[in-house]
Amino acid sequence: MHHFTPRDGALHAEDVSLLDLAERVGTPVYVYSSATLRRHYSLLAEAAAKYPAALGDALIAFAVKANSNVSVLATLAKLGAGADTVSEGEIRRALAAGVPAGRIILSGVGKTDDELAFAITTGVRQINIESAVELDRIVAIAQRLGRAPDIAVRVNPRIGAGGHAKITTGGVGDKFGVPAEEALDLYARAAASPHVNPVGLACHIGSQIVDLTPLEGAFRLLRSMTETLRARGLSVTRLDLGGGLGVPYAEDAATASIEDYMAMTAAVLDGLEVEAAFEPGRLLAANAGVLLSRVIQVSERQDGRRFLVLDAAMNDLVRPAMYDAFHDIKPVRARPSGGDNSPTAYDVVGPVCETGDTFARDRPLPPLEAGDLVVFTGAGAYGAVMASEYNSRLLAPEILVDGDRWAVIRPRPSYEEMLARETRADWL
Ligand SMILES: *Cc1c(COP(=O)(O)O)cnc(C)c1O
Repeated sequence: MHHFTPRDGALHAEDVSLLDLAERVGTPVYVYSSATLRRHYSLLAEAAAKYPAALGDALIAFAVKANSNVSVLATLAKLGAGADTVSEGEIRRALAAGVPAGRIILSGVGKTDDELAFAITTGVRQINIESAVELDRIVAIAQRLGRAPDIAVRVNPRIGAGGHAKITTGGVGDKFGVPAEEALDLYARAAASPHVNPVGLACHIGSQIVDLTPLEGAFRLLRSMTETLRARGLSVTRLDLGGGLGVPYAEDAATASIEDYMAMTAAVLDGLEVEAAFEPGRLLAANAGVLLSRVIQVSERQDGRRFLVLDAAMNDLVRPAMYDAFHDIKPVRARPSGGDNSPTAYDVVGPVCETGDTFARDRPLPPLEAGDLVVFTGAGAYGAVMASEYNSRLLAPEILVDGDRWAVIRPRPSYEEMLARETRADWL
């Protein structure tokens, strides 16, 4: 579900025409819909609120790495969202967006001493630890700071899942979390230290998961581990269930519904009396954003292969190159009826000097010509955040739409600004 729909012959983001935005801000540009962000958050929050007995006062902590723009975070923070962070930079963004420290979770497989100290002094809700050595480090840092942070132990349930090997995190060989037996030991060790306060268990098994079975398996394991820990006299009050629920990138794609996900979770945790936390990233943001791009040229080879060359490239949206990801591509302006509008197969590419800079091969699209605008849908998560300046291309700006209002929430830098960030070594 999203709020990018055709109106008066052109795609709109809510009430704002993408033709106008391209004219005013230029392309390529990311455009986000506040209504879609709010809708997805509310669906999740309302679904969770149906099961207070099983999920407690559930926290929905947006995974900041999916889209870390401060205005996007502030949109969600105003609804009560927390933040799942994986670095000091993300904690700082969440705080800047108005997320209270008490709703910020710090996860991540390699937190530095400085990051741990920052999180502890900031008073984040909880730090998820991922190894024995990290527990020792956090105990030492907390002792030095005279604090006792709440921590959770991230379990690797040996259930990997997700839309691509590179976004699977819960498998046996993946670097994340510790296996169940070791997690139980770590928890007991943490409970014996006066410098940390273990409050629960955490897991996050992968991303773009479209089937609930692996998630259910992981949650069942957390439940039985909770029971084991309690039988050993230890207190477990929170379960952090991670993110990972997938979204339909293609219009006809089948994904598990939010309602079924929450019903499954509540059934697994029924009677356990814990407070649940969810860390959705993609689910909230993916379909709340598009990447708007202009056709530079259409080139046709003698063998008939047609290349649609866009002004957006892999440096702006790396998912197709990195994860073989599919993004729907739609023309912004409807073709006038009457002409030949039968679809043509294009190889959709960007200007970057790499073959990997191919968004799609043989993609059937209505006829397009130089100057036409297209959008990549589903680009609100893992889009702008993964952009780079490869090929010295300027970072694409970001726009947030809310009804008929819109704002540039990250401007396109100038070439002067790009160059000014570098300094010439004094011997040159
Ligand atoms: C990436 C990540 C998430 C969010 O994943 P989505 O698939 O975007 O929902 C949640 N928790 C942790 C620990 C993560 O690393």
